[in-house]
Amino acid sequence: MQLLNEAIIRHGRLLGQDIIKVDSFLNHRVDTRLLAAMGHALADYFKASSPTVVLTVESSGIALAAMTAYALGGLPMVFAKKSVTVVQSDDMVYAPVYSFTHKNQNVIRVDKRYIEKESRVLIIDDFLADGQAAEGLLLLCQKLEAEVVGVGIAIEKDFMRGGRRLRENGVHLKSLAVILSVQDGVITLQND
Ligand code: 5GP
Repeated sequence: MQLLNEAIIRHGRLLGQDIIKVDSFLNHRVDTRLLAAMGHALADYFKASSPTVVLTVESSGIALAAMTAYALGGLPMVFAKKSVTVVQSDDMVYAPVYSFTHKNQNVIRVDKRYIEKESRVLIIDDFLADGQAAEGLLLLCQKLEAEVVGVGIAIEKDFMRGGRRLRENGVHLKSLAVILSVQDGVITLQND
């Protein structure tokens, strides 16, 4: 997606060898026009799969997931939670997820009431790196007996194994921007 590619090149910052900071336009300060365009692009791509609910994990996928769900005609959006609260229902499903950016293990959880059996789920996230977040969300859907119609990602890091693993497992995956490599401080993107 041209607009997103331009934003990554103009505003993306590298942290070490493999972390791209996009918090000036995507996951801290949000460029809402760009976000709306991204949500519409993912909605257009997946609308033929007739999703009934959009699922993400807190926190950085929430804005894009909400925009995509709205662009799909006002679908509900559910975000898997990482933290346990006292008001939490006891009817939850769980999956372990190793956080790529925080380097810690989380347990993500969704209340069974919010994704019914046989729901058609579109999974959305901001980044796809090793694929742990997406695989955790896929496991939640399996436990919920819901069908995953696809995985939509803002930025896929092609030099990491997540995208390849999902495609090999037959997941219908669409990434709006694909980073081919990061070398000597230079981000190389796949052209549209
Ligand atoms: P994975 O689970 O695929 O290894 O990593 C995906 C998750 O880690 C995303 O939810 C995202 O929040 C975070 N992440 C992975 N790589 C990056 C990155 O380069 N930059 C940022 N900002 N987040 C990342």
